[in-house]
Amino acid sequence: MATATLEAAKSSGSSLSGAVLAEIVEAVGKDGLIVEANQLQTYECDGLAALRTLPCAVVLPRSAAEVQAVVKICAKHKIPFVARGAGTGLSGGAMPDAHGIVIGFARMNRILDVDLENQRITVQPGVINAHVTQKVSAAGYFYAPDPSSQSVCTIGGNVAENAGGAHCLKYGFTTTHVLGLDVVLPTGEAMHFGASTVDAPGYDLAGVFVGSEGTLGVVTAVTLRIVKKPETVQVLLAAYDTIAQAGQTVSDIIAAAILPAAMEIMDRLSIEAAEASVHPNYPECEALLLIELDGPAAEVDLQMKQVRELCRANGAWEDRLAQSANERFLVWKGRKAAFAAAGRLAPDYIVQDGVIPRTKLPIILEQIAEISAEAGLRVTNVFHAGDGNLHPIVLYNASIPGQEELAVDLSTRILHLCVDHGGSITGEHGVGREKQQALGYMYSEPDLDTMQLVRCAFDPENISNPDKLFPRPRLCGEKTGHYTPHPLEVAGIAEYF
Ligand SMILES: Cc1cc2nc3c(=O)[nH]c(=O)nc-3n(C[C@H](O)[C@H](O)[C@H](O)COP(=O)(O)OP(=O)(O)OC[C@H]3O[C@@H](n4cnc5c(N)ncnc54)[C@H](O)[C@@H]3O)c2cc1C
Repeated sequence: MATATLEAAKSSGSSLSGAVLAEIVEAVGKDGLIVEANQLQTYECDGLAALRTLPCAVVLPRSAAEVQAVVKICAKHKIPFVARGAGTGLSGGAMPDAHGIVIGFARMNRILDVDLENQRITVQPGVINAHVTQKVSAAGYFYAPDPSSQSVCTIGGNVAENAGGAHCLKYGFTTTHVLGLDVVLPTGEAMHFGASTVDAPGYDLAGVFVGSEGTLGVVTAVTLRIVKKPETVQVLLAAYDTIAQAGQTVSDIIAAAILPAAMEIMDRLSIEAAEASVHPNYPECEALLLIELDGPAAEVDLQMKQVRELCRANGAWEDRLAQSANERFLVWKGRKAAFAAAGRLAPDYIVQDGVIPRTKLPIILEQIAEISAEAGLRVTNVFHAGDGNLHPIVLYNASIPGQEELAVDLSTRILHLCVDHGGSITGEHGVGREKQQALGYMYSEPDLDTMQLVRCAFDPENISNPDKLFPRPRLCGEKTGHYTPHPLEVAGIAEYF
């Protein structure tokens, strides 16, 4: 290994020995290893910037073989590792271990195979979500899961988080679209999960892997289902005086056996922020319902008539159909900008992600309003309403002493409300480091123990993204690395058991 690399590692305080770093350089080349402290800072957190840890090193492999070589080194020396796509995760899933390395997938961003006849595409994990659709669009296909971060987030991160998006109501989440996975297990073995035909016998290991948040190993290639573009797309904007009216419309549309491609609700604050940010020309209202129908033109025309009637019957005072592809693009741009636009409402915010049965929407919103008033903090809301997926955004100012703790407490209480109403602590953003304790609120001990059996079977040494997902100290081996107290624990809110 070059002396300069070793010197940089020493000055960064890396706990990896020169011999280990030399093995890594052997595996990925000198330009595939980062140890300089200032460069490592880029990797100390993901989209949940409140939680940060500097890793010992970052490796940037170019191929599955290089990934396998790196994981074998980690397995041999029991070094914890975490995979990283674009780092847009909102639950601290890609946050490193202080004694571990980050395996970054920025250089594994090639599309490997396009098979239009069989409606599938195979990509490396560092491929950006939107680039999949761009690749097949001219041939009349698209890739359906569309997180709002799709212009930057990667397929590897989408697989690990089972990412969703507005169009997952009709088309399903990432898991519905993953046909096959090449993975490297934490022991260093390379495997293929999934099959080229449907109904493969045996355990659905691809299904187990999707949504496992990097705790079962590392994805090195993904075969995805692509979908034929619909003949027609129509988008309706319906304006209401209350969110309850918009929520009731969502239930009525589903009850009428209409399955829109997307159904999203935004509240007044989110509408104002999106409007100021990307000018989508939304109506000024307390609640905006966005409904997209797609399919054969005759069917869409007929269903849109029914949808408009249901909107009006529930009090919509404006139901405006977007008139052009550009207008439709702007409508979705506004919705997709909602999280980033929250920065216009407050200096700091926490984007939460909970799920409730659709019918509980009015009661939970009332309760969120009550507890946010108690806390003295504002909460704005955007919903993947058709899925019952809420994104309450807790607004605060970290420079005011005590506000950050209040915001963390409030967002935890919101998640508990979701569970109390028969819902879940995450719809699509994952558990990561942020919601470990909340997972313990949702599942009983036997549930968690069963999940641990799966984790331990894949990762007996507990080195693949350790100390994520499960409530501490639910680890299957000796805990690697130093213990970093979670802000919830520091605030005396969280209970570790
Ligand atoms: C503005 C904004 C909007 C968002 N909107 C949505 C949304 O609508 N829907 C949604 O679902 N999410 C959304 N997200 C969250 C985030 O974009 C998704 O979770 C996304 O899937 C993360 O992808 P990434 O490449 O950034 O992964 P990262 O953040 O880098 O990693 C996320 C997790 O995936 C693991 N991982 C990454 N690559 C691999 C790999 N190759 N093998 C194994 N594990 C891996 C990491 O270890 C980590 O646990 C949003 C985020 C932002 C900032």
